[in-house]
Amino acid sequence: MEYRHYIANAHVAPDGGAFVDVIDPSTGEPFAAIARGNASDIDRAVAAAQAALGEAVDGPWARLSPVDRSNLLFDFAAAVLKHGDELAQLEARDTGKALKTARTDAAVLARYLRYYAGCVDKLHGETLPYTTGFTVLTVREPIGVTGHIIPWNYPMQIFGRSVGASLAAGNACVVKPAEDASLSILRLAEIAAETGLPSGALNVVTGLGGEAGAALSAHKGIRHISFTGSTVTGAQVARAVAERHCPAVLELGGKSPQLVFDDADLDEALPVILNAIIQNAGQTCSAGSRLLVQRGIYETVIERLSERFASLRAGPPAMDLDMGPLVNAKQQARVRAFVESAEAEGLRVAARGTIAVEASRGGFYHPAVLFRDVPPHSRLAQEEVFGPVLAAMPFDTEADAVKLANGTEYGLVAGVWTQDASRGLRLARKLQAGQVFINNYGAGGGVELPFGGVKASGHGREKGFEALLGFTSLKTVAIRHG
Ligand code: NDP
Repeated sequence: MEYRHYIANAHVAPDGGAFVDVIDPSTGEPFAAIARGNASDIDRAVAAAQAALGEAVDGPWARLSPVDRSNLLFDFAAAVLKHGDELAQLEARDTGKALKTARTDAAVLARYLRYYAGCVDKLHGETLPYTTGFTVLTVREPIGVTGHIIPWNYPMQIFGRSVGASLAAGNACVVKPAEDASLSILRLAEIAAETGLPSGALNVVTGLGGEAGAALSAHKGIRHISFTGSTVTGAQVARAVAERHCPAVLELGGKSPQLVFDDADLDEALPVILNAIIQNAGQTCSAGSRLLVQRGIYETVIERLSERFASLRAGPPAMDLDMGPLVNAKQQARVRAFVESAEAEGLRVAARGTIAVEASRGGFYHPAVLFRDVPPHSRLAQEEVFGPVLAAMPFDTEADAVKLANGTEYGLVAGVWTQDASRGLRLARKLQAGQVFINNYGAGGGVELPFGGVKASGHGREKGFEALLGFTSLKTVAIRHG
């Protein structure tokens, strides 16, 4: 099966004629191919998006009234729910994620579309007090053609939060999905067209990051870019867009801490802490990958978590076990290298899960691993593994916990577990993170909650009304009437 680009509501062959194999992560075998996009394909997609907006805001997409735009997005959300199972099956095959995770992703995508559909007719400017004889107002306008570089870990959710918000604001989109996760995004573009989205409002160019992705971020017609991925590639994208002063929202992952104080309710905390590192096999930007535990309960927490880690199983998506395989051979090698080098440095494994016997030997599986007593300055405590590997370490005082939590270059999410409400509030202010959760860790959900990082975790905000504002350009109009 060969998948072509989706430009101006049509399947379009790649200009260079080349395709890239799509590998099934649960077997390591190719099962399809996607178009290998180049700069010329990106040109075509940007031109289609510009035509949807029109030169004088008179294109078929730009002409729609807010209420019609809103209705279209509601219809798109309904169509996503109708095709939810098909989308989940496609995503699970393409990325290896467990079917239950893929089903949740499709549902959350629909929720994003509904949320932003409901925002369209509430997006308005203001009137401002100014000198006598003037009326001054602001209007929120679309920015133009927006670029969306989407990673492979949560393609549907990230499409929802970025493309959903951009379309709601009236922009036209060009999407470059990850080469390992393009199929659901291509299908979504088809579904959007079937729902009635005008030609050119949503275009998808597949291919390699260094080719189609780089061409998208360098394209002069792109007026805003959303990128989710690694810190290294994020910096490349930021440099490319800086050349033409184009705003960028960069969501670059993290090394997010969970702080467990000795007054925490462990029955509530431990299942959430476990899920936050094994969900999607740990390939989650907001994974709670560092566990900081107050010394008085450290051994209890390690013992209870070890039991759970030892019972975790990875297997093919259709088995719906605790985890699927990792997305590709590169990711599998990366996670293995982290674990092996930590063991070689003498770090202690407290518990390790298993791989189901039914799993193909060619699949990119990796068991869940719990490390204990991880030194705060070790690579395992500092760098993003992006796999099911949890680094636990003890702390003594609240001040120590804050120092440890803030002691990496990242700052995406933090979780605090304590019965002391004052301590929870205090820490919420002291932790360097874009989101802080007290007695919960809900980073994956919450379409309404602004999300993004500080420090190397990036800048700008996705999700919520905040993200929608970021996809608009604010114009001030001053009228002198005497
Ligand atoms: P990348 O940052 O390289 O990829 C993310 C996205 O950027 C993909 O769509 C990719 O396309 C695209 N891309 C790659 N190179 C360029 C470029 N030069 N210009 C524009 N776009 C580009 O991450 P990897 O997939 O290589 O994963 C490496 C690590 O990054 C992971 O182990 C993890 O630590 C982190 N990561 C973090 C994510 C997050 O949610 N914050 C998501 C994914 C990864 P393509 O896939 O086709 O190369």
